[in-house]
Amino acid sequence: MEEIKEILKFYQEIGAEFVEGEYRDTLADLEDVTREIMHCTKCELHKSKKNYVPGEGSINPNIMFIGEGPGETEDNFGRPFIGKAGQLLDRLITKMGYSRETVFIGNIVKCRPPGNRDPLKAEVEACLPYLVRQIEILSPKVIVCLGKVAMNKLLGTDYSIMRERGKQFEFQGIPVLPTFHPSYILHQQTKEAISKAKWDMWHDMEKVLSLIRA
Ligand code: URA
Repeated sequence: MEEIKEILKFYQEIGAEFVEGEYRDTLADLEDVTREIMHCTKCELHKSKKNYVPGEGSINPNIMFIGEGPGETEDNFGRPFIGKAGQLLDRLITKMGYSRETVFIGNIVKCRPPGNRDPLKAEVEACLPYLVRQIEILSPKVIVCLGKVAMNKLLGTDYSIMRERGKQFEFQGIPVLPTFHPSYILHQQTKEAISKAKWDMWHDMEKVLSLIRA
């Protein structure tokens, strides 16, 4: 019951009661997936998680950001990218001229892998269909994969993020731009390395913006 209340609160917060016409179906479909996620027992992660993190944002987004899975803060609050990496992502989104409310932010897996390990194959296989449905429902103009895990799990590849970031791929006809995970910036040791990682990410986001304008 608490979970349902939380979902309703979330949709109230994004102004769902004002959604009209063509977006009513989108919202209803998104609510259906969210409800399913909030009751999911398809893999072991639901046993150790504190909260499901279904994803959040606009129901008509130009951009969908995809991370690998919730960390500790996200697990505590049931919201994606709200910890330190999330604060960096927020700044990037703002610099692009958007906000958390005008993009959609999701993850490959909706429950926190213990100790922030990479999600296991079985966990990804169980959870990925939720993300695929979210993508189909929201139909963003561009998908940004944040980091190697998000890129490879969505595309079904085994690429290096260092080599493939900033290149354009495709998922079900939608352009996919992989870039660094924001926590990559947090792990850099020198001011120069931090600055380079930030500029690299920004140049990738310039490509995203030009894809939207095209
Ligand atoms: N890292 C991710 O990949 N996703 C989140 O939601 C938070 C941190």
